[in-house]
Amino acid sequence: MIFHLLEQTAKVHSDNIAVCCQHRNVTYKELLFNVKKLAERLSLKGIQKGDNVIIAMDNSIEFIEAFFAINLCGATIVPLYVNMGIHKLLNVVKFYDVKYIITLSKFEKVFSAFQQNDCGILSGIFYLKNGGEVDDCRFIEISSIVSEVSQTCAGKEADPAIILFSSGTTQMPKGIMLSNHNIVSNVMAISDYLKLIPEDKILLIKNINHASSITGEMLVSLVNGCTLVLTSNMPTASLILQLIDEYKVTVFFAVPTLLTAILGHRNLEQYNISTLRIINFYGASIAASKIRELADHFVWANLIYSYGLTEAAPRVTYIERDELLKREGSSGVPIKGVSVCILDNKGKVLGPDQSGEIAVKGPNVMLGYYKNEELTCKALKGGLLHTGDIGCLDSDGYLYVTGRKDNLIIRSGKNIYPEEIESVLMGFKGVKEALVRGEADELAGEDIVAYVVLGEGRKINMRELLMHCKDNLEDYKIPQKIFEVEQLEKTLSGKIVRKQDLKTIM
Ligand code: ATP
Repeated sequence: MIFHLLEQTAKVHSDNIAVCCQHRNVTYKELLFNVKKLAERLSLKGIQKGDNVIIAMDNSIEFIEAFFAINLCGATIVPLYVNMGIHKLLNVVKFYDVKYIITLSKFEKVFSAFQQNDCGILSGIFYLKNGGEVDDCRFIEISSIVSEVSQTCAGKEADPAIILFSSGTTQMPKGIMLSNHNIVSNVMAISDYLKLIPEDKILLIKNINHASSITGEMLVSLVNGCTLVLTSNMPTASLILQLIDEYKVTVFFAVPTLLTAILGHRNLEQYNISTLRIINFYGASIAASKIRELADHFVWANLIYSYGLTEAAPRVTYIERDELLKREGSSGVPIKGVSVCILDNKGKVLGPDQSGEIAVKGPNVMLGYYKNEELTCKALKGGLLHTGDIGCLDSDGYLYVTGRKDNLIIRSGKNIYPEEIESVLMGFKGVKEALVRGEADELAGEDIVAYVVLGEGRKINMRELLMHCKDNLEDYKIPQKIFEVEQLEKTLSGKIVRKQDLKTIM
């Protein structure tokens, strides 16, 4: 189970700093102690195997303690963004049959509203103080007192350990059930390609509730005896640079939009970020020109690009610096223990260089979507995870992700993936972010409409941008309209939301 990862590390690196958050440090020994103490208390309060337990916290040491403690109790962790509004929170509690909520005293106001509402099967809300102290919520009496937590009540490898939500770039986030085995196998495979050392310092700046934060950063750091530097959700590029400088961060994970923001930072040279030895980016396509820019700037660091999705716990492939620069547009080879194939629309496996749906097989593939049998069967048909992403494999087994079925634009009968156009737009000097989508057109069915955000203080000539598109895209992929916008809305994991209202700059 996931808890054992921490237990093992604490044996070997007991006095290393496990987590550092706003200048508060905990060693592995202390973290393990706090987790066990909390698990004992939660177990006494009634939390047990089979219960769905929400952790409603921001990035904090308490989140990590609650995470491992729930896992040790054998219950299922449901990490949730606190500030989603009371109605959405209530809906999640009811739909996901949540029995307990663990949160921080500072969020008491948010949850006090639960007293006036129908909360389904909710039996208790616990407020955590530092170091695993628990305060009961008073509105519901905790009646079921069970014996101390024991390994026999703890979860088995195939039980759902966690329900994670996808980013919500295309639709409402889906509740994805992952087992202990799914998570542990992915943590081990990521560790295998990252080759971390206990001296590494890993900066976690994204919302901690996502698959990439939990598996790829928090757990990968803790299993390798490294120090996890936690900060509040999505700080500015300046603050990230400041943190890397101050904490001498060695490993940094980010979605491409964030790296672009860092590269375009006015005072980038003022910060000492030479300690960075690994930059792992993932989660969306990135223009080849941006990768070259990154490689030129971070000459000393290993750049690793990955492909993945929450349903795969999340990592599927990786590619390191040299190959990344050689194989333009590739997201790499499968991580250890995982295989990837490409399917046609009848489910037949396609050969090299043929484009189709990306399918994944491996110990990381999810158990299913919570209470959604139909979607689960579709996604896991034939024992493969059908990702909904389109791509191909080259003859050396390197994956190229070209787009996503859901984002497909059909213009005059031609299939167009907006991700390719976005990459081209992002390759134009001055363009910081780009969103391309289909918008209804009477004649062609859909028009290709592009929205771009420019880097700070940048001005571009729209006609030149259009020429750049003409030079780099087939004629039917050239956007009919290109608009400048001030900003693009992002998900909590930093990815651009596809459906959003946009105000263009005239
Ligand atoms: P939702 O399913 O709720 O719309 P989401 O798909 O963004 O949200 P995630 O699981 O966070 O949720 O993201 C996985 C998706 O991100 C993949 O299916 C793929 O479309 C995209 N993605 C991830 N890595 C890459 C990559 N290297 N290149 C291109 N796209 C990528």
